[in-house]
Amino acid sequence: MAQERHDAASGGGRRRLTRRAFTAGAVTGALGMWAGTGLPRRLSLGDPDRPPQLYEFFVDSFWFDSAGLYDEAINPPLKGQQQADIAIVGGGYAGLSTAFNLIQRFPRKRIVLVEGAACGYGASGRNGGFADVGMPGLHTVFEEAGPDAARAYYDATLLGAHQIRDFVQQHGVDCDLEHNGSITLAMDESQMEELAGQQRRYAAMGLDAELLDRAALRRAVRSDRFVGGLRDARHAILNPAKLARGMKRVVEGMGVEIFERSKVLRVEPGAKVRIVSELGELRADQAVLTLNGYAPQLGLFRTRVIPLCNYVVATEPLGPSQRAAIGWAGREGLADMRLQFMYLRLTADDRIVFGGESSPYWYDSTPSSGSYRPALEKLKRSLLVTFPQLEGVRFTHGWGGTMGFTLDFMPSVGALDGAKNLFYAVGFNGEGVVMTQLAGRILADLVSGMETPLTRLPIVGRTPPFAGPEPVRYLGVQLVERLMALSGGNPVR
Ligand SMILES: Cc1cc2nc3c(=O)[nH]c(=O)nc-3n(C[C@H](O)[C@H](O)[C@H](O)COP(=O)(O)OP(=O)(O)OC[C@H]3O[C@@H](n4cnc5c(N)ncnc54)[C@H](O)[C@@H]3O)c2cc1C
Repeated sequence: MAQERHDAASGGGRRRLTRRAFTAGAVTGALGMWAGTGLPRRLSLGDPDRPPQLYEFFVDSFWFDSAGLYDEAINPPLKGQQQADIAIVGGGYAGLSTAFNLIQRFPRKRIVLVEGAACGYGASGRNGGFADVGMPGLHTVFEEAGPDAARAYYDATLLGAHQIRDFVQQHGVDCDLEHNGSITLAMDESQMEELAGQQRRYAAMGLDAELLDRAALRRAVRSDRFVGGLRDARHAILNPAKLARGMKRVVEGMGVEIFERSKVLRVEPGAKVRIVSELGELRADQAVLTLNGYAPQLGLFRTRVIPLCNYVVATEPLGPSQRAAIGWAGREGLADMRLQFMYLRLTADDRIVFGGESSPYWYDSTPSSGSYRPALEKLKRSLLVTFPQLEGVRFTHGWGGTMGFTLDFMPSVGALDGAKNLFYAVGFNGEGVVMTQLAGRILADLVSGMETPLTRLPIVGRTPPFAGPEPVRYLGVQLVERLMALSGGNPVR
């Protein structure tokens, strides 16, 4: 459904967040910095709730809770000097999917995954659980290469969705996968027009989607906040941490060795890639770095990947009268059209998980605190604006995570600086549940030295656009966020 928001971003009046706007923001921000003496001191550059470590010790996540992550034993760290045929750094979906695809091709190779905290501890275990097909970047491909190329890209992303579906079935992983479809919500008539445009673009690609007017939407979801929506039956929802931990268990069972609690401090390219962690060192013939929003912290894509944070709250399980009051019998994934959009879905035990509304950036690409109170409080207010009939509902959890954004909203998968044995995936732009599965497949092709239709996709070998060094990047993001707020982007304060 984010596809529609990308359309808004690149096609629609006040909500425009183009590369030009972003660059203009960055330049103006930098000028402002030079002009305003003492400005950096007056700005709050960091998340005040963030502890100084790379990883938060406690993330108040409903998904972690329901997946048993707080009670589960975490694997021991990498220690001493070790050798591997293939090393993977980062135990999110991208790393786990790479491991899953590689171990099937090379069951005799020593494949080692090194994760700084616990598999799924990054965005992969914390996200909204929207398994949307066709994004991110579909709109960019549509604009650059036309409907047929966009349809080919869309179909490739279906592989990611099918990988989740097949994986869950074949390995008996219970991650509360529900194929309920999604509805993208319009808050005003101009957003409705954008949705109609999206429906037309889908039609040009041979894909159907159902436009809902106010009355039809109201039959689906009892909220007066929206004037209509676009239903896409191909999307699904799931419990993200259960999927991540399930992937970890399955790939481990297939023979991948996983070290957790092993923060990598340095990666040195070479005939053997050297991966240095706090307590050990791994030398590998080939290596894959799947760090997404954490990549800049390790010195990768520092001027090209922008780590934005995103936050989520969960309510208590709704009672029968509360459920009846909001309708939503189809249990679709819901999100609106603003750039700083909100997204909401029901969990298996009938809580509402409600996220979005803001995406703060912390100076120097620092990962999220996992708990930024202003963002969490805003979400609670927004949920009650959406469903005033739930006044008094209790919120049980609130958490956040770090995403990797690029200025063209496209992911990038490829060989690092042209190396033949060092690969990466970054830039899932807040929409990586399905795309990371596909990225793992592509990375396995690249590691295997295979040229396939997947390695020819437009996201492969695509260098993300330059987003500037600090402090330009920080000031630019602040400025763009403020401009969006001023343009009526997010009315809930
Ligand atoms: C709040 C939130 C909501 C979201 N909602 C959705 C959604 O509904 N649908 C959707 O499609 N996408 C969503 N996303 C985006 C999606 O979660 C990500 O795109 C996806 O999980 C990225 O996966 P990844 O494996 O590339 O990165 P990650 O899951 O971030 O994994 C990177 C891993 O690397 C590890 N790591 C970092 N640094 C080091 C180091 N130095 N040494 C060793 N390990 C390290 C981290 O601990 C982490 O486990 C959301 C993201 C957030 C934060």
